Formats: sequence, structure tokens, C-alpha cells
Amino acid sequence: MKLYSTRNREETTDFRTAVIRGLAPDGGLYMPSSLPNYPRSFWSSLRGKSLKTKARILFDLLLDEDFSDTERGEITERAFTFDAPMVSLDERTRVLELFHGPTLAFKDFGARTMAAMMSVFARQEGETITIVTATSGDTGAAVAHGFHRAPGVEVFVLYPSGQVSPLQEKQFTTLGGNITALEVDGTFDDCQRLVKACFADGKIRETKKLTTANSINIARLLPQMIYYIHAITELNPGGMDQNAPDDAGRDNGSPPVVCSVPSGNFGNLTAGLLAHKMGLPVRRFIAATNVNHVVPDYLSDGRFHPKPSLRTISNAMDVGDPSNFDRMLDLYGQDQRAMSRDIHGAWFDDRQTRDAIVEVWERYGYLMDPHTAVGYLGCRQQTAENEQGLILATAHPAKFPETITSLLPDALDTPTRLVETSAGQKQSIPVRAHMDAVREVLLEN
Ligand SMILES: *Cc1c(COP(=O)(O)O)cnc(C)c1O
Repeated sequence: MKLYSTRNREETTDFRTAVIRGLAPDGGLYMPSSLPNYPRSFWSSLRGKSLKTKARILFDLLLDEDFSDTERGEITERAFTFDAPMVSLDERTRVLELFHGPTLAFKDFGARTMAAMMSVFARQEGETITIVTATSGDTGAAVAHGFHRAPGVEVFVLYPSGQVSPLQEKQFTTLGGNITALEVDGTFDDCQRLVKACFADGKIRETKKLTTANSINIARLLPQMIYYIHAITELNPGGMDQNAPDDAGRDNGSPPVVCSVPSGNFGNLTAGLLAHKMGLPVRRFIAATNVNHVVPDYLSDGRFHPKPSLRTISNAMDVGDPSNFDRMLDLYGQDQRAMSRDIHGAWFDDRQTRDAIVEVWERYGYLMDPHTAVGYLGCRQQTAENEQGLILATAHPAKFPETITSLLPDALDTPTRLVETSAGQKQSIPVRAHMDAVREVLLEN
């Protein structure tokens, strides 16, 4: 696969370089320079296959120049270790559960795939790859779990002391092995600044092959296309199987699908757009956000005004300047009208989100986390009678025990994995928010 930067469409880069760099040197984001487009018969031929098989097929189609057959198999096996089941709320509303990975959030798909790919690159190059990343919570957990025991890769996670939830902290400080957590005496911004400084540091660069694992990496985006493909090929919108008309001679498929995506940095939604570009039959996407609604605003009036983020109960979506927005603009050639035909915006405040959690529980006996509840609200508001809604469930409700138990004291049944994590022993190295301290840890470990 060849990629270009959103800031320069003329020059292309190979996949490995794009993954190791993360961000293009001109500051742009990498985009696939061409994606194949498939007819409905192709999509219908995937129906009935497992998520993992579909992942392998997509990697074979897109990455055949970048990895050998064996390597593509190895990446699929390492990354796709859990399923993405669909649950029906009613006849025309389904929830796609993306939270069955080790950190109980959809970011596990991207993080595990990127880790598996980095291991292959490390082996190809015969040197250890060092990942340095800053986290305010969730990303650190997904990255640490994704890379844990990945051969040829070591990971340093910088996080602000006392500013991540105790459960989140446990998720990336209890693993040990190739994962080292640095507890920085400072803010998240300090952590990000220190990560940047590592890349500029001559001493560190002399001894380590550094890369980052942030959410804009193309290796995190590609695997996220797969669960859209998985769900929609099973839903069979509009009768993708052209050879099976019903008695009246029409397609026997189900209604067109609208995907509601709880969004923050818009990586998840962008992955859906890429799958759509390959011909996957999706009628429309819903960009569902909390009160951080710069993208819904853009979709309705064409003006994009990044803002400082506001805190909400769906905190993984508290983003005031979404990093994947440039990719969305690029996909639509900066044309807001074209984009707003495919994507409808919707946003909701915390009160509406809380009410939705209770409503869904009372009406369907289904428990949603606050992020998924925002997706549910978007689906309710923006899906027509003759369409079916697919809500992407981005996190397990047990990750947000305070919110859930305050609303529904008896609903939560904490998955054993979370219980195990909270029982684990925290191992972190306290450091001052200064490059000298960080450098010392990196060079000693
Ligand atoms: C990261 C995250 C989101 C937002 O995903 P983006 O790809 O950044 O839009 C939504 N829900 C949860 C639970 C998340 O962790």
C-alpha cells in the first residue's frame, strides 16, 4: 500500500515508513493513495465468515506488497483474538460490541494490530523498536496491552501523576515486562512535551529506534475498517446477494444501514468512511458527540472552530480539535456539502446521556457505557423508519462504574478481567517533568 500525506498528495510513502513515522514529516496525516472498490457481490461473499477471517482477507487485499503471506497471518492471529458480536435492541436497531478486548474498549483493535505490525518490522530490521507515548488514560491502556510481550518492541508510557483514574492507571502499570510506566510529576501536556523532546534528543536517538503509538497512526486505522465490514456484511443491507430475490422478485435484503459512531478524535468514523470508499454498503454515518461538537457544527454550517475541550461523562470523546478531521476533509476534497451527505452530526449533553443509559436499560434490559449511549442517542435522532441503525459500542459499561452505579445501582456486573487488573500491583517509575529524568530512565531500561 502506498500512502500520501494530507498536506502533500504528490509524494507517496510505503506502508512500513508511514507506520514507523506515525505522522508525515510535513505534519500531515497518512492516507492510502488508492483503495480498491468492490461490488456488492464481493461483500456478500464474506457473509458467514468470522471476524478474524474477514480481517485476513482485508489485510491480503490491502497489504500484499508490505507483508508476506506468513506475516499477514501472524498479524491477524496476534491482533484478532476477540470477537465483535452484534446485539439486537429491536427489529431495526443493533449494537456492535467492540469492547471484548483486554482493555474493554474498541481501541484494542487498533493497538493490537499496530503492535503486531511493529513486531514484524522489528524482526525485518533486526533491531528493537522503542515506543514512547503519552497518555491521559485510555490510550495508554490499549497501547500497553496491545504491545505487551510483542517481540522486538519496548514501550514507555508517560502519564501525569494523580490525573488518571485508579483503574486506568492499573491497566498500564501492572503489566511489567516490555512495558515501562513513567509517572510524571506534571500534567498531560508536560507528558506530551516530554515525548516530543525524546524524539529530538540526540543521546536517545543514538541508541534507540524511536517511534510513537498515537491514534493518528495508519496502522490503527486500517484494522478498524474490519468490524464495519464484519457487521454490515452480516446485516446484508438491500440484499447484497444479487442472486437471491424474494418471492416478489425484489432483493431479499434488509433495509439500508446507518452507522452511529460515538466520536472524539474521529479515527473510528474515518475507518468507516474508508470501508465505505471501498464500496461497503452504508447509507450514512452519524457523527455522535458530547458537548464537544465542533464536527457536528461543521457538518451543519460549514465552519470549523477548534475549541478547548469540555469535560463530560463520556470523557474519551472530550476532544476540541479532532486529529482525524484532516483525513475526513481529505476524503471529501474539502467539500462540506459532499461530506454532509454521507455524515450527519448529532450531539448530546451529560443529562441526555444519563437519561439514555437508564432508558435503554429499562426498555431493553441492555446496559450501555456513556460513550455508547451517545451513539444510541445519535441513532435514535438520525435514523429513519425504513433504515436500520448500527450503534458502535466503544467501551464496556464496567469501565465507568461511578456513572453507572449512580444511575442503576444493581445493573453492573464487573467483568473478571477488570477485577484482576484492579488487584494487580502497580509498578511505575516516578520522574520529574524534565527531560534529564526521562532520558535517564529510557537509557537505563
Ligand atoms: C477513544 C474513544 C472514543 C472516540 O473514538 P475516536 O476514534 O477518537 O473518535 C469513543 N469511545 C471510547 C470509549 C473511546 O475510548
